[in-house]
Amino acid sequence: MEYRKYVDLHNHTTASDGIYTPKELVYYASFRDLSAIGITDHDTTNGISEAKEAGADYGIEIIPGVELNTQEDNFEIHILGYFIDYKLSWFQEILTKIRNTRYSRAKKIVNNLNSIYGMDLDFDEVRQRAGRKDNVGRPHIARVMITKGIVSSIPEAFEKYLGERCKAYVKRYKLTVPEGINIIKRAGGVPVLAHPGLIGNDSIVERIISYGILGIEAYHSKHTQQQQEKYMQLAKTKNLIVTGGSDCHGDGSPMVGDVTIDYEVIEELRRIAKLA
Ligand SMILES: [Zn+2]
Ligand SMILES: [Zn+2]
Repeated sequence: MEYRKYVDLHNHTTASDGIYTPKELVYYASFRDLSAIGITDHDTTNGISEAKEAGADYGIEIIPGVELNTQEDNFEIHILGYFIDYKLSWFQEILTKIRNTRYSRAKKIVNNLNSIYGMDLDFDEVRQRAGRKDNVGRPHIARVMITKGIVSSIPEAFEKYLGERCKAYVKRYKLTVPEGINIIKRAGGVPVLAHPGLIGNDSIVERIISYGILGIEAYHSKHTQQQQEKYMQLAKTKNLIVTGGSDCHGDGSPMVGDVTIDYEVIEELRRIAKLA
């Protein structure tokens, strides 16, 4: 009998806005039917080495990745990069630059919330929630708002105070999609369009594919069955690798392992990464 192996290629840790440390994430993954997991923190690869150490202990292969925030028109586009040579110094310099803009922006948002609504939020507390200073973002602000009883959930915080149309919102410097794709390719990785269903605009999706993306995340915890099938079909037409993952952030569902894909995708990604 053939034994099938599965992988969850999309996970966040405390290196960005996840709740679990890389070690905890791997520990939880060890209870699911998983041979490998991808570590795809936002604009950082700082969780990968700890995950690899834990992965060696728990027998789970760690796929090095990143999730870059980019922009196309007014759409926020997330580009996943797999098998990047993440130790390259120029690559780390770019990530550091992106994260520094995160920090100053989070600080401005907190200042706005305090001055517009008199919230009395302490930026240091927000910073502590983020673990590392350079990864502070809106979810951390939301969590502090919850502890203060201002809102009762993260979606509520975004709806009322942190979303794009809210008064306290501050725009962030972003890479363009072609820049993001090229950075990943130059670092020897495979660029994959994350959760296309969440973009909500398929002509944008087609345009991004035309920029040279090599894979598409058809399987995602927030995709409907219909979206999943649509993007599988699109992948076939455009000759793209199909990837999938839970997008686990650790705060309730989805959990690591909730969305999986056959392990074969790893071999395909590895092969393409070598060619690129
Ligand atoms: Zn994303
Ligand atoms: Zn993600």
